[in-house]
Amino acid sequence: MPSEPDIAANLAAIRARIAEACARAGRATDSVTLVAVSKTHPQEAVVAALAAGQTVFGENRVQEAAGKFPDLRGAHPAMRLHIIGGLQTNKARDAVRIADVIESIDRPKLAAAIAEAMKKEGRRPDCFVQVNTGDETQKSGVPRAEADAFIRAAREEYGLPVTGLMCIPPLDQDPRPHFALLRELAARHGLRELSMGMSADFEAAIAEGATLVRVGTAIFGHRPAPA
Ligand SMILES: *Cc1c(COP(=O)(O)O)cnc(C)c1O
Repeated sequence: MPSEPDIAANLAAIRARIAEACARAGRATDSVTLVAVSKTHPQEAVVAALAAGQTVFGENRVQEAAGKFPDLRGAHPAMRLHIIGGLQTNKARDAVRIADVIESIDRPKLAAAIAEAMKKEGRRPDCFVQVNTGDETQKSGVPRAEADAFIRAAREEYGLPVTGLMCIPPLDQDPRPHFALLRELAARHGLRELSMGMSADFEAAIAEGATLVRVGTAIFGHRPAPA
């Protein structure tokens, strides 16, 4: 992991780039929330980011997040945890227990499991629907053609507090049409939050209306390759 001063400097650089991208788009700087993606990095990296004023974090695995975040809450009541990775239904209860936002709702079985977990836990984290804007077979997210119906079902049938959408465009394509598609879909459903843009493309996402950008590598350095 980068040293604590490096994490602080990286955060400052990303915040400056977000402010510039907002200015170019004629948007207020505070209209974009930086989600610092700390997956695979140790708790010390999160602590260093908290010390540098970062409050919103993203993790893609519930179990890993459960090991890092709950014991930081007492000292950092403003901290917010977003679950951003594909979720198995048997992790729904843990996700509802520890998350402030679950960004990866993408199928009826998961929506049902999250709704059930909310009843049991007495907690209602905000939910985003993840859309597979490139219709890639290996990627999580609801397929484009099913997105409208699924967003309606998540809200009306399962009663989830859906406040936004999330996407991860295909790596090998211009991300902007994907960001634009997500924005149009959100507008159709009156959803205010758009989680789109990562280290490589967050400025383009801000130009297309992102309200949250999920940045990992540019803050915490490269992740070890998966085994
Ligand atoms: C890992 C991850 C990110 C961060 O990606 P970087 O390229 O490291 O900034 C963003 N969103 C999701 C869903 C991720 O899994």
